[in-house]
Amino acid sequence: ESSVSTKLVIGNWKMHGGLRSNEVLLNALVDGMKSMPPGLKVGVCVPFPYLAQANALLAGSRVEWGVQDLSSHHEGAYTGEVSAVMAADFGTRYAIVGHSERREYHREGAILVAEKAERALEAGLTPIVCVGETAEEREYAFTERVLSAQLSAVLDRLSVEQAASMVLAYEPVWAIGSGTSAGVDDVRDVHAFLRGQLAAKGEAVGRIPVLYGGSLKPENAAALFAVPNVDGGLVGGASLSADKFLPICEAGA
Ligand code: PGA
Repeated sequence: ESSVSTKLVIGNWKMHGGLRSNEVLLNALVDGMKSMPPGLKVGVCVPFPYLAQANALLAGSRVEWGVQDLSSHHEGAYTGEVSAVMAADFGTRYAIVGHSERREYHREGAILVAEKAERALEAGLTPIVCVGETAEEREYAFTERVLSAQLSAVLDRLSVEQAASMVLAYEPVWAIGSGTSAGVDDVRDVHAFLRGQLAAKGEAVGRIPVLYGGSLKPENAAALFAVPNVDGGLVGGASLSADKFLPICEAGA
């Protein structure tokens, strides 16, 4: 095995942060990344108002930045929305689309999520497409059916070239914010399933990074990152402090 890791670790701040606390956190991440092995890739997805701050503090560092959502439209009379092109103006690299909190609280459906992924790619951003089943869906053994429906809506809309440029994140809804991640056996099975779905679209699509997300923390990151077909993580709560986020990044090194 190569000693150079290609793990990708992305922080999802959700609706947290402030100018002063962000500065402390972002500077600590920039510093912490200086001693990490070269293959490791790290990013933080910040609330829209802080994109300019992320651009100012992170440009030229090893920490990339992204947004947590995007409009499905190009531009126009869409009050309150932010386009992929606007995000790209601030040096943004990543755009989370289809997070379960968007699907649930904002009733985002599979087609809308696919459109958002398409807008991101058109603007040169890397969409991080989130899929995941609820506790109830899991209980009724609907996990693969749900994941397949969420993913195929995106894959059907994108060209092979576009799909090969995205990142997929498996985030079981029941594990998010719960304090307990999914178990390694579940993650192994689901990631193998997702890898198969991706590969069916094309060889290059089968090689995209597939992240795990849901209560990742320093204590469980190494075990989850060692699971086959897990290429990194999407980190919510534990991305809000450098003391937790950096050790998780290090587990991917
Ligand atoms: P969590 O959130 O790490 O706080 O569980 C993950 C996510 O929702 O992306």
